[in-house]
Amino acid sequence: MELSDLTIGQAGDLLAQGDITSTGLTRAVLDRIAAVEERTKAFVTVTETLAMEQAEAADHRIKAGDARPLTGIPMSLKDNMSTRGVVTTCSSRMLEGFVPTYDATVARRLYGEGAVMVGKGNLDEFAMGSSTENSAFHPTHNPWDLDRAPGGSSGGPAAAVSAGEAVYSLGSDTGGSIRQPAGFCGVVGLKPTYGLVSRYGLIAFASSLDQIGPITRDVADAAIVMTAIAGYDRRDSTSIDYTPPDYTQALGKDVRGLRVGVPREYFVDGMEPGVESAVREAIRVLGDLGAIVEETSLPHTPQALAVYYIIAPSEASANLARYDGVKYGYSAKDASSMWDALEKTRQEGFGPEVKRRIMLGTYALSAGYYDAYYLKAQRVRTLIRQEFDEAFQKFDVLVTPTSPSVAFKLGEKTEDPMSMYLNDIFTQPANIAGVPAISVQGGMVDGLPVGLQFTASHMQEETLLRVSHAYEQATEWHHLRPNI
Ligand code: GLN
Repeated sequence: MELSDLTIGQAGDLLAQGDITSTGLTRAVLDRIAAVEERTKAFVTVTETLAMEQAEAADHRIKAGDARPLTGIPMSLKDNMSTRGVVTTCSSRMLEGFVPTYDATVARRLYGEGAVMVGKGNLDEFAMGSSTENSAFHPTHNPWDLDRAPGGSSGGPAAAVSAGEAVYSLGSDTGGSIRQPAGFCGVVGLKPTYGLVSRYGLIAFASSLDQIGPITRDVADAAIVMTAIAGYDRRDSTSIDYTPPDYTQALGKDVRGLRVGVPREYFVDGMEPGVESAVREAIRVLGDLGAIVEETSLPHTPQALAVYYIIAPSEASANLARYDGVKYGYSAKDASSMWDALEKTRQEGFGPEVKRRIMLGTYALSAGYYDAYYLKAQRVRTLIRQEFDEAFQKFDVLVTPTSPSVAFKLGEKTEDPMSMYLNDIFTQPANIAGVPAISVQGGMVDGLPVGLQFTASHMQEETLLRVSHAYEQATEWHHLRPNI
């Protein structure tokens, strides 16, 4: 096996035994980036010098007997997480060349563990999209088929993990942006409970929905990364005051007697037949493992997408008001007045999807429409939450497809925003309810990975990891790597 294909667990063992060094491993990953990045375009910025410095420091730490599970392991961060001294763009012209003066809490925690950062991953501009084609710089290509989208908005981080350009990544998930690209790229993506991982230093999209989480090659790695990044942060006012467990303790436990619900609303007309049959087969595997599988219903699921596409743009329109060309970021040069400067800055700095969201959100929040759209969406949000609460009285987890299709072709949905939005149909309900959800590889259709999603109740990440690990260990899918 190539060094760049190792999991965190495998690399950690080899580092601990002294069979490899972090500098050697980091060099191998940087070489892999040099070899494939021209085809995948997973990164906005590759941080080679920083990575080699961090790798050397990690080797010293390992020698000194002070290693942690992530010490010396190369990773990438989605480029909407602030990194001190490293350009952080959100894949937007608005923040092109922007260098933060502080680290996001997740970056600080990973650095504290001795992590090695090889680069900042490409995304849809301000994390708005499902294909990474909304990046102002370049689209990312799916390592399984370069003509296809890697999903989005964390398409760069997911493609990097899939293609061997990072051992793991952090993504952010507002309506599916960790899980859907993980599903499309055949890797694991976990969206934690809202408030479990600090959002300090994450450039805000929709603050009541955004969460940071791991993108990894297997479930055990997701548990390792979660253990490092979860937990209270006084700098994030929505952070839950909770001391998280060692999530790796959830691994290796069987699922006998675990109650698994299959909500019928997640098997919709128009979904790809191959996806449905892969998910049905996965459900059979869970039954064979001793889980008690039963059909159930989440009746407001069909309304969730509309709720999401009112609440997310509304919050985005408020969050993005700060880009005025005055304090930081892009600033239009040839303006005749303050208002002219503001208009031109936003006209030139934002791409079309971001403008669409700002207009949708501003409309939904405006006097006269607030009650009809925003308030109503909030009310339906409460219903959706209650529906999940009720479901989790009966079930430990819900199992569904992550997305209605496998990776679609680049360009296939760019002209039709509605068909792009429909891609989030199965992922955004977990954000609306604030509950955790994970996507693992659940099969292959025509050479492309299928995402299998598990959802659990608030703070039940251990149950999610337990069931997805049991499923993963019973199947072979997680061993597959794209041939790039
Ligand atoms: N695809 C969804 C959107 O465009 C979700 C994005 C995300 O989770 N950041 O809003």
